[in-house]
Amino acid sequence: MQKLEQLYEGKAKKVFKTDNPDEFIIEYKDDATAGDGAKKGTIAGKGVINNEMTSILFPMIEKAGIPTHFIEKLSPTEQLVKVVTILPLEVIVRNTAAGSISQRLGIPEGTKFDEPTLEFSYKNDDYHDPLINDDHAVAMKLATREEIAQVRDMTMKLNEFLKDFFAQRGVDLIDFKVEYGKDNYGNIILADEISPDTCRFWDIETGEKLDKDRFRRDLGNIEEAYQEMLKRVEN
Ligand code: UDP
Repeated sequence: MQKLEQLYEGKAKKVFKTDNPDEFIIEYKDDATAGDGAKKGTIAGKGVINNEMTSILFPMIEKAGIPTHFIEKLSPTEQLVKVVTILPLEVIVRNTAAGSISQRLGIPEGTKFDEPTLEFSYKNDDYHDPLINDDHAVAMKLATREEIAQVRDMTMKLNEFLKDFFAQRGVDLIDFKVEYGKDNYGNIILADEISPDTCRFWDIETGEKLDKDRFRRDLGNIEEAYQEMLKRVEN
């Protein structure tokens, strides 16, 4: 398999073509952005950690019955994945209030929800990834009603798997964002990454934040927090 030209460069990853029309290579970067691009920086070692964490988690998620784009890890910063067209939806699950929901609705950070709360954002930088509902997504033809139902089911199942997985490692999964794609055969599968960039992780005992909020909020010890999360996932 041969790595060919770069197709796309996002904020945290680059995507490359390969000589196989069903496979892409994803390369993870150390670059970090927050606050709709207002804050930019790098987190040393982040690309390696996020690639490794996603490469551990995705095969387990697949085993738990949720199809994913992941094929194999190729190098410290690269992985081979199935070609998908990303649905322009950020799918966010919240088990506990934090971040934008606390700011927008005045729910104090740390308030636990009785059941997981699912949100969709329209993935579009020009409009700053606005919050939308199912009807908006269907009206805008971002996905069909059936695809949204499927995404909801897969995401709720994923949340149950991830909550248990992290709880066993002393981590409270506060919230996370995932993205789905459609493969060359029309299947909706989990894509993107699962990492401290895309999840909020709080230590169950101390409440310490072990995720990108350390970068967003200038809390310090960012690299250490990412390392600590990888260590827990590897155990
Ligand atoms: N998130 C993400 N990418 C985004 C927006 C959010 O990965 O573009 C993740 C974020 O890390 C958190 C969850 O989704 O785990 C909910 O984020 P929230 O809406 O609270 O946004 P924020 O506080 O980051 O503005």
